[in-house]
Amino acid sequence: MKGMRPEILFPLFADAATLPGVGPKTTPLFEKLGIRKVGDAVLLGPTGVVDRRVRDSVQGVMEGTMLCVKASVVSHHAPRRPNAPYRITVNDGTLDFILVFFRPAPEWLNKILPVGETRYLCGKIEHYDGIAQMPHPEVFDPSKEDPPDGFAPVYPATAGLGQKVIAKAVKAAVALTPDLPEWQDAAWLTKRGWPSWNEAVAALHAPEGAGALSADDPGRERLAYDELLSHQLALALIRAKRKRTKGRVSVGDGRRRRRVLDSLPFDLTGAQERAIATIAKDMETPERMLRLLQGDVGAGKTLVAFMAMLIAVEAGGQAALMAPTEILARQHHAGLGALAEAAGVRLAILTGKDKAGARRETQAALAAGEIDIVVGTHALFQKSVEFADLRMAVVDEQHRFGVDQRNELADKGRGADILVMSATPIPRTLAMASYGDMDVSVLDEKPPGRQPIETRMVSLSRYDDVVESLKRAIAGGARAYWICPLVEESDALDVAAAEDRARALRHAFGENAVVMAHGRQAPGEKDASMEAFRTGAASVLVATTVVEVGVDVPEATIMVIEHAERFGLAQLHQLRGRVGRGSARSSCVLLYQGPLGETARERLGVLRETEDGFRIAEEDLRLRGAGDLLGVKQAGLPRMRLADLEVHGELMAVARDDARLILTRDEDLATERGQALRVLLYLMERDDSVRYLKSA
Ligand code: ADP
Ligand code: MG
Repeated sequence: MKGMRPEILFPLFADAATLPGVGPKTTPLFEKLGIRKVGDAVLLGPTGVVDRRVRDSVQGVMEGTMLCVKASVVSHHAPRRPNAPYRITVNDGTLDFILVFFRPAPEWLNKILPVGETRYLCGKIEHYDGIAQMPHPEVFDPSKEDPPDGFAPVYPATAGLGQKVIAKAVKAAVALTPDLPEWQDAAWLTKRGWPSWNEAVAALHAPEGAGALSADDPGRERLAYDELLSHQLALALIRAKRKRTKGRVSVGDGRRRRRVLDSLPFDLTGAQERAIATIAKDMETPERMLRLLQGDVGAGKTLVAFMAMLIAVEAGGQAALMAPTEILARQHHAGLGALAEAAGVRLAILTGKDKAGARRETQAALAAGEIDIVVGTHALFQKSVEFADLRMAVVDEQHRFGVDQRNELADKGRGADILVMSATPIPRTLAMASYGDMDVSVLDEKPPGRQPIETRMVSLSRYDDVVESLKRAIAGGARAYWICPLVEESDALDVAAAEDRARALRHAFGENAVVMAHGRQAPGEKDASMEAFRTGAASVLVATTVVEVGVDVPEATIMVIEHAERFGLAQLHQLRGRVGRGSARSSCVLLYQGPLGETARERLGVLRETEDGFRIAEEDLRLRGAGDLLGVKQAGLPRMRLADLEVHGELMAVARDDARLILTRDEDLATERGQALRVLLYLMERDDSVRYLKSA
C-alpha cells in the first residue's frame, strides 16, 4: 500500500476527457481552468451564484439585472454595417425586447433561435433608447433540455467555454464521485456545523440560494479546511520526518556570547533576547531544530543568528551561514568580522567564485575543524564540503528558498540544527501556509533610536525638482540609492532604462558621483560599484531590484524608487529598509507615473503611514489578494482551489495545530481516521508527503 493511490480515488483521477463536453477542442480550455482530471472538475469552485428562477417579464427590470425569462422569437435583424450587432426581437408575453449579438455566425443564430419558437433566455438586462436589451443571452431549448430553475453556480470564465458546457462537465464529474471516508474529527465537524465531504461537494455545485457560496457557508468552509488541513498535514509529515533524524545536543558556556555582548555599543532588544533564549533551548534538546526567525528589515536578525552560531562553537562544534547570493555572502562575512573577533572565533567564507586553491584550503580547514564559522553560498552544501562537526546551519532566506530546498538543506545538514532567517514580512496566515513545517520566532521589536523615514510620493513629472533637491543633499555629503524597476520580460531592456537614468544623473551630479549595479554586470564591476558607494567615493547608486536585498550601507539616507507604482508593497518596504539604518534622518521618495488609480494611491499611501512591515503586508494582502502577494509563489504555497487565505486565515492556524496533533497521536496514520487522512492527502495530490510517513 505504500506510495499507492487508494483505489477509491481512481474515478476522480480519470482523465477529464471522459467527461461530456470535454473533447479535442475544449480540452485546452478546461485545462485553463485547471481541469485535467475528473476530480479537478469536482473541486472547481464557483465564483458566484445566479438566480435562475424564471421571471414573468423583463418589464420594469432595473439596468444590469441578471435574469431568466421565457420568450418567443419574433424577428431577426442582420446588421447592415459590418461591425454593427446582430439583433433579434423577442416577446415575453408582456413586451418586446432585443437580444444583441456581436459578430455571431447567422446560421448558428437561426438554429438556436428560430422565428416563432419559444426559448428560455438568461442574461443581463440593459436599456438602449428606452428599450430593454439582453446581450449574448444563454439560450435554453425546452424541447431538448431542462429549463433554467432555482439557483445555479457561476464558474470561473474562460474565453470560448460557456457556463453551460462547464456546468455539464461538472455535473457529470460530481455524479462519478465516490463516497469518501470521513477524515475530519467528528466532534470538530459537529462543532462547526460542517457537512460531510460528499455533501459539501454536492452543495457546492447546487447552491440553494444567493448566499450559498459565500466563504463562510458551512460546506465551502469545510472544503477549504480540507485543503488547509492536507497542506498542513503534508508540512507536519515533513517536519516529523526531520525530527526523527537524530539531532545534536549543543550546550554552550556563554563565554563567547558574553564577549560579543560586551563589545556591542547597544543592548539586545527584548525580542532578540527571547529569540536567542528559545534557540538555545532548542539546541539543548537532542531533537533537531528547524526554526524560522522572522523579522522586519533592520530588526537585528543577523545578531540573533550569530549568537546561535556561537552556541554551536561554544559547544565545541561549527556553524555555517548560507546566503542566497554571492554579494550577500560577502556582506555577511564583512559584517560579522568584528563580532567574530570579539568572540574569538575563526571566521571564513566559501563561495562558488573562490579560486580553486583558496577553496581547497578553506575546505581542508573546515574538515579539520580549524574554522569555527563559515559564511557562503549554495557552494557550502556541495558534497565535497565536509565539516568536522557542523552543529548549526543558518540560512538567510530572503524569500528565495521553498520547502523543497529546505528539505534538501536539512538532508545535507547531517543532524545540524537549522535556523532560517526571513525578512519577508508576510502575514501570519501566509507564514503558516508556507512555513508550517517549522517553528517560528518573530522579532517584533525594532532596535531603539531608529529615526522614522520620511516617505513622500512625488509624480515623475516633477523629476527635475527631485534631481535638484538630491543635488543639494549630495553636496551636503548625503548618499542615495536610485532604484529602477524591473518591468520588461527581458532584463536587457530594464538595464538599458537604468543605464539611461544613470547617464542622466551623471550629467546632473558629475561623472564619478554615480555608479551602477544590476544583474547583467560582471561580478567584478558590480563589486567595484558597491565598494565605491560603500566608501562614499560615489554618492548615488543606481540599481535595478536585482541587487535590492541585503545591501547594507548605513551612511546612505536617501532612497528614490522610480515607478514605485509598479512594485509590490512588500518590495517597496524592503527597498525602503535600506535607509534609516544609521542615526541620521532618512527619506524615501516614491516617484510614480501618474495618474494613479484609487487602489494604487491607497497602496502607496500605506507606506507613508507606517513602517511596520507586517501591517504593510496585511494591507497588501487586503488590497491585492493573496495570490498576487509578492513572494507567495516562491514561498512554496500550493494551489488553493477553495481556501481563500484572506477569509479562511483563522482556519490555517487551526489546521496547523490539528495536523501536528494528528501526528502526535497517530504518527503513521494507521488508525481508521489516519487511513482516511491518507485518502485526503492523495486526493489533494500530496503523494509526495505520504512517503514521509515513518513506515513508507
Ligand atoms: P536584519 O538582518 O534583521 O535586517 P540586521 O541584523 O542587519 O537586521 O541589523 C540591522 C542593524 O541594526 C545592524 O547594523 C545591527 O548592528 C543593528 N542592531 C542589531 N541589533 C540591535 C540592537 N539591539 N540595538 C541597536 N542596533 C542593533
Ligand atoms: Mg540583514
